[in-house]
Amino acid sequence: MPPTVTPSSAYVGRFAPTPSGYLHFGSLTAALASYLDARAAGGRWLLRMEDIDPPREMTGAQHAILQALEAYGFEWDGQMVRQSERLDSYNAVVDRLRQDGHAYACNCSRKQLEPFGGHYPGFCRDAGREMENAAVRLRVPDGEYGFTDRLQGEFRQHLARDVGDFVIRRRDGLIAYQLAVVLDDAWQGVTDIVRGADLLDSTPRQLYLQALLGLPQPRYLHVPLIIQPDGHKLGKRYRSPPLQPEEATPLLLRALRALGQPTESALDDALPCEILAWAITHWDATRVPRCRSLAEAQLR
Ligand code: GLU
Repeated sequence: MPPTVTPSSAYVGRFAPTPSGYLHFGSLTAALASYLDARAAGGRWLLRMEDIDPPREMTGAQHAILQALEAYGFEWDGQMVRQSERLDSYNAVVDRLRQDGHAYACNCSRKQLEPFGGHYPGFCRDAGREMENAAVRLRVPDGEYGFTDRLQGEFRQHLARDVGDFVIRRRDGLIAYQLAVVLDDAWQGVTDIVRGADLLDSTPRQLYLQALLGLPQPRYLHVPLIIQPDGHKLGKRYRSPPLQPEEATPLLLRALRALGQPTESALDDALPCEILAWAITHWDATRVPRCRSLAEAQLR
């Protein structure tokens, strides 16, 4: 099978963990996919810590994530970026979107919105007044936003119907993931996003933000999410323990198999960096299972 991305040094990929928990087998699999896809294309691979939600941050998680990535043989290019150091840029964009009328203040309470199950009914959309203590919502267009994922194919959403106006800055002043991710991917020159399929649903919102802000649209590849027997994302319900350095070789091989990639028995005793080097030369994105999730228990 030919590679789906022509080797080119123009490729910039990234891994963007949230330090709300340790790296686990699911995030390892997503990191591995983005790393191999970038390196097989001769590209750069950046690391960005998405630490913009201090209440959800787990003490020690940032350090543990970096240690695990190193122990598992990953090498990133340049300095890691921390989103917590970019708050001024995000806030400037929120303010500009408000001035331009693309976003508005919203002081609806959680309780008021409960019956609408995550779809914002637009109560504050036309309020047009200053409010203390308010979230900021982006006005979404009455239209479809879609893209062709390299693995999952066509994916479309009607933003107004399926999502509604969404929060870009929370009432407590914290910046929403959707905005920060779009601004940073553009700022860092990311051309290719490879991440877990749980974020497919967020992509049309991100495409709209890119279009609105005049930012380039990267290519996307959403790899299957590794789920627990109860259907939850790994690490979500139960805090996953940190990945152990001594398990690097078997877990990297397991992650490769989860991604549909070949392995060979000679790798059973290889060092993490040797496994990664081998896997880069054998990477074939078209072999990744074309599904949204894989049950961890069923992986070999
Ligand atoms: N920080 C997000 C997460 O850990 C990933 C963001 C992204 O890859 O776009 O789920």
